[in-house]
Amino acid sequence: MTTKTENRLPTAAYVNGKFISGHKKFNVINPATGEVIASAPDLGVADCKKAIDDAHTAWPGWRDTDVTQRSRIVQKWYELLMAHKDELARTMTLESGKPLSESLAEVDYGASFVEWFAEEAKRAYGESIPATKTGQRLITIRQPVGVVAAITPWNFPLAMITRKVAPALASGCTVVLRPASQTPLTALMVAKLAHQAGFPPGVFNVVTGKDSKGMGEELTTNELVRKISFTGSTEVGRTLMANAARTIKKVSLELGGNAPFLVFDDADIDAAVAGAITGKFRNSGQTCVSVNRFYVQDGVFDAFAEKLTTAVKELKVGNGLDNGVQVGPLINRDGLEKVKAHVEDAIDGGARLLTGGKAMEGLFYEPTVLADVSPSALLAHEETFGPVCALFRFKTEKEGIAMANDTEFGLAAYFYSRDVNRCWQVAEQLESGMVGINTGLVSNAVAPFGGVKQSGIGREGSKHGLDEYTEIKYLCFSE
Ligand code: NAP
Repeated sequence: MTTKTENRLPTAAYVNGKFISGHKKFNVINPATGEVIASAPDLGVADCKKAIDDAHTAWPGWRDTDVTQRSRIVQKWYELLMAHKDELARTMTLESGKPLSESLAEVDYGASFVEWFAEEAKRAYGESIPATKTGQRLITIRQPVGVVAAITPWNFPLAMITRKVAPALASGCTVVLRPASQTPLTALMVAKLAHQAGFPPGVFNVVTGKDSKGMGEELTTNELVRKISFTGSTEVGRTLMANAARTIKKVSLELGGNAPFLVFDDADIDAAVAGAITGKFRNSGQTCVSVNRFYVQDGVFDAFAEKLTTAVKELKVGNGLDNGVQVGPLINRDGLEKVKAHVEDAIDGGARLLTGGKAMEGLFYEPTVLADVSPSALLAHEETFGPVCALFRFKTEKEGIAMANDTEFGLAAYFYSRDVNRCWQVAEQLESGMVGINTGLVSNAVAPFGGVKQSGIGREGSKHGLDEYTEIKYLCFSE
């Protein structure tokens, strides 16, 4: 059933400047209601291959377009994204379930990468190197890598696209994007706006489809693709990296996290609670930088647990389109089952349930706080991806840091302390690509986003974001 209000949702993929419906379709479901909201083209391997060919044909023309012109088109795309903010946000809430306020914020956030890279492309500087032989001049220039394949997840249906596609296009690459099959509609809308912005045919292509494995394999093994940029789980990232090794592609991976959040005895507890709510409940805990493990020092454990529980009890759960809703549904049944399993496992291991702990109707789960969770619990080792706060106790700073680092992941970490020396020392010792110090929110377009260990390779955003889509060429001039 497609409801009347959703008639304006886009339903066509975008290849070589043309909108294509495809022979087959797949349904897109609203996780808050279970309703089918639209259908998207169910394209496959052959369509991916064609899109790659088209992107390859379009590449020389786009590469040789001067940077001012490229930048203007990217900037125009930014303006169109912002002009369609409400429509994009509503689409995102419908297909991902996130509260509308978060979707609106995601349009601002996602579009900010487009604006940033429209400007940053003009500063893709090379360098001049002092020569070691008389009569020689040594310089470097930066050149676009070529055709980029981008694969994105459902949890940020817009921003995970723009963080890759904006720097790729701005630097003169062409792109074939495959968005997650759970949230293809935002991607199709983004493509429509890119078309209006004036990218030449073949420069940006969006292929939707259910065959993630087959399409992913084509995108990561096709010889014409020179770069693969993936955001998603570590497990899938590992497979794609192995595929890409066959043709030695440049690879960027933004993978899973298991973020620790430390609260030291000297922390401002109210600020820590506010930071915890932001860092944990955005998108119902389904973000790669979501706090997964709260490590709280003995002296403030009870005070933090009590205040956090009070704040969590006040969170409003519901359909993201309803006013004031702060926590939406889990994305699908598997997501819900994982959250249930993690909570049951923690309680079986001796954790105390302070609030929540039960599945609600449909795909909703009660915002939950668990105290004194065992370090061996699943919650400590796997990304839970749900609205659950797991509180672990620690005694010394050294012990807290060791517990925080006891994971194969290393994306984001957070801690609260008012001791300036401790702030520097802990920040330096945490094994993660990003550290929030007295804050639960770190990401923006001007700063480098990315992980260490099994959380990924490469950075998105900032001046470094452009490096992922360019190669350094060294020129040696001799007299
Ligand atoms: P996922 O299962 O890895 O899926 C991500 C994307 O890969 C989707 O487009 C998916 O398509 C596709 N895919 C799945 N299996 C594939 C395969 N065998 N070959 C090629 N492509 C394949 O991850 P998810 O559950 O959607 O997203 C959540 C994960 O993403 C979490 O681990 C989260 O931490 C991570 N994430 C990381 C960042 C970051 O910046 N580090 C940001 C956001 C999310 P289908 O959905 O159509 O199957």
